[in-house]
Amino acid sequence: MLPNSAGTTEHDETATSHDETQGDHMATTSQQHRLDIRRFRMWIGGEERDARGGRVLDSVDPTTGATWSQIPDADSADVADAVGAARRAFDEQWRALSPTRRGRHLLRLAEILGDAAEELATLETRENGKLLKEMLAQARTAPDYLTYWAGMADKVEGRVVPLDGKDALNYTLREPLGVVGIVTPWNSPLLIAIQGLGPALAAGNTVVIKPSEIASAGVVRLAELTGDAGLPPGVVNVVTGGAETGRALVEHPDVAKVVFTGGVETGRAVARTAADRGATTLLELGGKSPNIVFPDADLDAAEAGLLAGIYAAAGQTCIAGSRALLHEDLYDELIKRLQTRAESVVVGNPREPSTQMGPIATRSQLAKVESFVDEATRDGARIVAGGRPADVDGLPDGFFYRPTIVDGAARDSELLQEEVFGPVLAVVPFSTEREAIEIANGTRYGLAAGVWTRDVKRAHRVARSIDAGIVWINTYRAGSFNSPFGGMRASGVGRENSVDTIYEFLQTKSVWCELDETVRDPFVIRL
Ligand code: NAD
Repeated sequence: MLPNSAGTTEHDETATSHDETQGDHMATTSQQHRLDIRRFRMWIGGEERDARGGRVLDSVDPTTGATWSQIPDADSADVADAVGAARRAFDEQWRALSPTRRGRHLLRLAEILGDAAEELATLETRENGKLLKEMLAQARTAPDYLTYWAGMADKVEGRVVPLDGKDALNYTLREPLGVVGIVTPWNSPLLIAIQGLGPALAAGNTVVIKPSEIASAGVVRLAELTGDAGLPPGVVNVVTGGAETGRALVEHPDVAKVVFTGGVETGRAVARTAADRGATTLLELGGKSPNIVFPDADLDAAEAGLLAGIYAAAGQTCIAGSRALLHEDLYDELIKRLQTRAESVVVGNPREPSTQMGPIATRSQLAKVESFVDEATRDGARIVAGGRPADVDGLPDGFFYRPTIVDGAARDSELLQEEVFGPVLAVVPFSTEREAIEIANGTRYGLAAGVWTRDVKRAHRVARSIDAGIVWINTYRAGSFNSPFGGMRASGVGRENSVDTIYEFLQTKSVWCELDETVRDPFVIRL
């Protein structure tokens, strides 16, 4: 099922004979390297497929900086094939299947996915550079999401409307939308795809997924596993490619809803395109989340939470706690502690168990992180820790950056207003609860926030006052398939996970039935 790879890595490419000239050697190693590149294919209508035009995109391993795989670069004709397959599967099979049977399909997929967790995690670490242990934890949790949605499939009910008169019966049906398009980013490709796919399929829709061009392999493999799980062909399809492929999916007239996870500007463009043809969107976008530490906080817990909030996944998570709001009474002490810890973080190969922070996912993202920090220091901010790329032994071309802390950035600076998506913590002092809330709410985002205090009243007061979809009290990054996830303001529209999410994928039909036998005079208006 998987591509024609011998599983070799970039480091295997040096096997050439001694009597070659240097030029021949380079040509041969380069050819060998091209042969070693794994080739992934799309999944359309239950079959593997290349792009009709034959175009491919290279995927680079951020740990080594070398190309390791290729994916098809789909155009609008390929996307139309996938949407067509999804629509046929919807019309001919999936919508007619009883919800209980749909749930059973999801349960089977959950089981097969669990068995493939290590393989999936290994692929994902290769493509996005996140720690193998984190990707493994995600891949092992993914079946729980599917199990949850499998159970939900036959719990969707309409209702009988209690009318004022007795002459009619009115009830509602909850019906699927049709084909759902799912566009995902590179940081947690498999789990994010599952968060859209689970409720969409449980509700009776079929899906076309367009994973990020930076991390498609795990999602392609997921689609293949839907075949092994016996899902009817066309229920799950994957098209690969970049922005153009995503745009073709969002523009397609048969895509009833788009679930988009990614950057704010892309999300807004997606929402506009979808709205132009009357389709709806569920948007999970970026954040600039504050972690607020009050003077009565458990400092050890706060320190650990702040570090996990920003350096997990090298800061490449939408919920990164990228702003530390520290009360002035503990400011100096906590900064000192954070500096010591940041400087000792083990940056390196994400496949090594001892590594605490892996690389940034792409060369251009690394450049973006650097430019955020450089601009802040140019404007007078102070580097407390890091502030430069990291050298990792044996991996000179990897995209590594040191865990960084920046103090003294202006409140309206880019660093304090915009998402860096890297391991950069901006620290800000405050003196009162009111001021903390004002700073916390002082960006366009509203995804998540952390509150660190032992005062129960304050904890809940602040939780209520913060404009964010998720607030953690004395913890950070907790989440579950049955707890709502999503953002306010620029951070998104709609919620994933939890019971209510199923209604994002359903539409309500109101059915009226006359009960009275008498034929009405059409020109008499009944009150
Ligand atoms: P991105 O916006 O660059 O790309 C996301 C996806 O959209 C990719 O698959 C891309 O190919 C596709 N795309 C690009 N232009 C498109 C267009 N015009 N029409 C349709 N599709 C298009 O995001 P990224 O760099 O891959 O991911 C990082 C961003 O994702 C960050 O901002 C992060 O905060 C956000 N994110 C949010 C959540 C959440 O749940 N709120 C989770 C993870 C990541």
